[in-house]
Amino acid sequence: MINAITNPETLVETATTSVLSIEAQQLPTLILGGGFTGLFTALHLSHQHYKTPTILIDRSSRFIFKPLLYQFLSGEMNTKYICPRYDTLLHKSGIEFIQDTIQSIDLQQRQVQLASGLYYNYGNLVLSLGSVAAYFDVEGAEEYTLPFRTNEDAVALAKQLRNCLQRATQTPKPQQQALLTVAIVGAGCTGIELAATLADLLPDWYAALGSNVADIRVVVIQREKEILKGDSDSLQQAAQTALHERKVSVEVLLETEAIAVRRNTVVMKRNNQIEQLSAATIVWATGSAIDPLVSTLSIPEAHRDKQGRLKLTNALQLLDFPEVFGGGDCTVMEQQPATAQVAYQQGAAIAHNLQALAEGHSLLPVEIGLRGNLMKLGLDESVSDLFDRYQVKGHLHFP
Ligand SMILES: Cc1cc2nc3c(=O)[nH]c(=O)nc-3n(C[C@H](O)[C@H](O)[C@H](O)COP(=O)(O)OP(=O)(O)OC[C@H]3O[C@@H](n4cnc5c(N)ncnc54)[C@H](O)[C@@H]3O)c2cc1C
Repeated sequence: MINAITNPETLVETATTSVLSIEAQQLPTLILGGGFTGLFTALHLSHQHYKTPTILIDRSSRFIFKPLLYQFLSGEMNTKYICPRYDTLLHKSGIEFIQDTIQSIDLQQRQVQLASGLYYNYGNLVLSLGSVAAYFDVEGAEEYTLPFRTNEDAVALAKQLRNCLQRATQTPKPQQQALLTVAIVGAGCTGIELAATLADLLPDWYAALGSNVADIRVVVIQREKEILKGDSDSLQQAAQTALHERKVSVEVLLETEAIAVRRNTVVMKRNNQIEQLSAATIVWATGSAIDPLVSTLSIPEAHRDKQGRLKLTNALQLLDFPEVFGGGDCTVMEQQPATAQVAYQQGAAIAHNLQALAEGHSLLPVEIGLRGNLMKLGLDESVSDLFDRYQVKGHLHFP
C-alpha cells in the first residue's frame, strides 16, 4: 500500500527525477535480480502497461519462493509452485527476461555488464540482488557446511541426506551415529523450520530402508539463549513444543557457539568448554551478508548501513542516484525486516514509482504492511503469529 506524498523533501527529489525520466526516455529499464522485489516489480509494471522497454536479468532460470523451500525438500509441493520458470511467469507480460550473471554495475555511466559479454545502458535501474550467506569468519564454515537458500541447495541437501541414510545401513554401530546426525547452525526461522521438517522427514526415509528411526538426531546449535530471537514469546514457545513433538525430538543447544567446522564435525563453545559434535551433514542457517556486487558499487559508507546495505529515500530511490530504485535484502529501510513480505511490497511500490516517473507524476513513499509470521514446523504442521497479535496453530494443506 502506498500513501500520498506529504514530505516536502520528497517533492524536491521528485522534481529532479521527472527531468531525468524525460532525458532517459529511449533507454530501457533494467531490473537486476528476479527475487521477491525484482519479479514483483516486473509483474506490476506489466499489469500497469508500463511503456518503457523493460528487461529482467537473473542468473537463474527460475524464481525461488524461499518461504516454501522446506516443502520442496520434503516433496510436499511441486517444483512448478516453488520454483516456476521466469519464461512461464513473464509469458506475454511484455517484460524481456535474460538469464545471465550480472558482473558489474557502473552507476555513473548507467551501464550494466553481464558475464556473457553483453552490456546494457539504462534509463532507470532496479537493484534487487538479495543477499548471500554470512559465515562470520568461522573457520571451515563455508567449506564444510551446506547452505539452504535456493532450490539447488535443497536438492543438494536431500541428496546428501539420502546418501548418509543409505551408508548408515551398511555401517557398524559406532561409526553409524555421525551419518545419522544432522547439525543445523542457527535457530532463526530457517534453522527452526528446517530442523522441524527434517525431524519428521528423516525418520520416514530411514524407516523405508527398514532401519531404527530412534538413532536419528537433529541438533540445532544456537549462540543466543533463545530460539527465534526477536519473535514473540508465544511463537517461541509454540515452536519449542513443535520441535519436541516431531517424529524424533529436535535437540536445541542454546548459548552454544559454533567456533569452527571441520569435515563431519562442529567445534562448539558451550559453558566455556570446547565440545565437538560429529555430524555427517551440517547446515549453515545463520546470517545474511550483502551481495558482493552491491558492496562494489560506488556508494559512500554514509549511504549504507553497517552491513553495507543501501539506504533509500522513502520513494525507494538510491540517495545519490534518483534514477535507481532498490528494494529487498540488498537495501535497508528503518524498522523493516529483511523478509519476502517486505520485498514484494517494495516491488509493487517501485513499479508504481517507475510508472509515475515515466508519466511525469509525483513519486509516492512506500508504506509496508507487516502481516505477521507463518512458520512451517514439520510435515503438515504450522504455526503463525498474525499481525503479531493472533496465534494460529494447525495443519497445512496444499493443493
Ligand atoms: C530458507 C528461507 C526461508 C525464508 N522464509 C521466509 C518467510 O517465511 N517469510 C518471509 O517473509 N521471508 C522469508 N525468507 C526471506 C526472503 O526469502 C528474503 O527476504 C527475500 O527473498 C528477499 O527478496 P529479494 O528480492 O531481496 O532477494 P531474493 O529473493 O534473494 O532475489 C535475489 C535474486 O537476485 C539474483 N542475483 C543475485 N546476484 C546476481 C547476479 N550477480 N547476477 C544475476 N542474478 C543475481 C538471484 O539469483 C535471486 O533470484 C526466507 C529466506 C530463506 C533463505
